[in-house]
Amino acid sequence: MPIFTADLIFTPQGFEPHCLLHLDETGKVLRLERSVKEVPAEAIALEGVLAPGFVNAHCHLELSHLAGMIPRGTGLAAFAQKLMAARFTVEEGERRAAMVRAEQEMKAAGIVAVGDISNLAESFGLKEEGNLRYHTFVELIGLLPERADMVLEKGQVLLAEVPVGNGNSAGFAPHAPYSVSPKLFSAIMEYEGKHSRLSSIHNQESLAEDEFFKQGTGPLRGLYDHLGIDLSGWMPPGKASLEVFYPLVKDGVRMIFVHNTFTEPAQARATMALHPDPWYCLCVKANLYIEQALPDVPGLLDAGVRFCLGTDSLASNDQLSILDEMRTLQRCFPRLATAEILTWATLHGAMALGFSQDLGSFLPGKRPGLNLLTGLEGEELRLGEKSAVRALL
Ligand SMILES: [Zn+2]
Repeated sequence: MPIFTADLIFTPQGFEPHCLLHLDETGKVLRLERSVKEVPAEAIALEGVLAPGFVNAHCHLELSHLAGMIPRGTGLAAFAQKLMAARFTVEEGERRAAMVRAEQEMKAAGIVAVGDISNLAESFGLKEEGNLRYHTFVELIGLLPERADMVLEKGQVLLAEVPVGNGNSAGFAPHAPYSVSPKLFSAIMEYEGKHSRLSSIHNQESLAEDEFFKQGTGPLRGLYDHLGIDLSGWMPPGKASLEVFYPLVKDGVRMIFVHNTFTEPAQARATMALHPDPWYCLCVKANLYIEQALPDVPGLLDAGVRFCLGTDSLASNDQLSILDEMRTLQRCFPRLATAEILTWATLHGAMALGFSQDLGSFLPGKRPGLNLLTGLEGEELRLGEKSAVRALL
């Protein structure tokens, strides 16, 4: 039975010295021994910090072949337009190969579980291999309410194909407030209230979303015009998208709001009075890539928001690394302590995806993966350029 020790071990209580982590041969935690006076000879003693495997709460594996193909800083509407144009310019074999590489990259970067958005079945074969654990969000899109039933029916066909062995799970996710009708959103809530009880939505990723919701104008309107979609029957609700959709979240469905780049803390506070336990997923590198903007992380924290972390896809990120998301967050918001961000990267991600029975911390009985973090700087263990992660299990 392997026993690991290091300078520090990361637990929900923080960084703890003088610990021994006892695992069985399968990586299951037997116990975490604290206040150890003497390290036994058979223990594997390492320099650095031991932490549970990372959870990437928002990714799009099937966009992996778009790495480097969409320029930075275009804004969301132009990004979406370029993504749609580029998506199938690469042949299927190459798209699959890119997904395999992306998954290997995540595994090497200490990621053990992924909340992954799927519009197609292309990633399902890879997910079946069980290299990482997945909750697959089958994404549904349809702004016009008359299309809601058809979109849901087509989605059900795809959802039935998702491999759910090896601890994997699946359910529906509405794409974004500007691309689903309240009717489709409510139908998804109805379905997930009875099934996975988990859903997710891209939320307030651009200022254009606000403009589209308040006035019905702006770059997102332009995107629909470009796509030839007739919005003459669509009326702008005249308020922020979160205020429109949040009341439709069904009790008992755990929602992961992704991006939240333009979510005002007062909006978050007001909406959480309706449903107190949503998760807010940060994908800051993608925000910088697409919108060159960042969410008000300190303000949202003050509002009582709970965060988890995601990488988004390789279409809007140069790598799928939770460590790099953490490093970027701390560089942009220097007051964030490493232990706090590490909680978002591990336990919070596991809780958001419904995997905390097995992942996210070193509680006995879990099989959370094991990462060695090195190059943390100073007494505060800051995440600098030299910080690195090695997946030990
Ligand atoms: Zn996304």
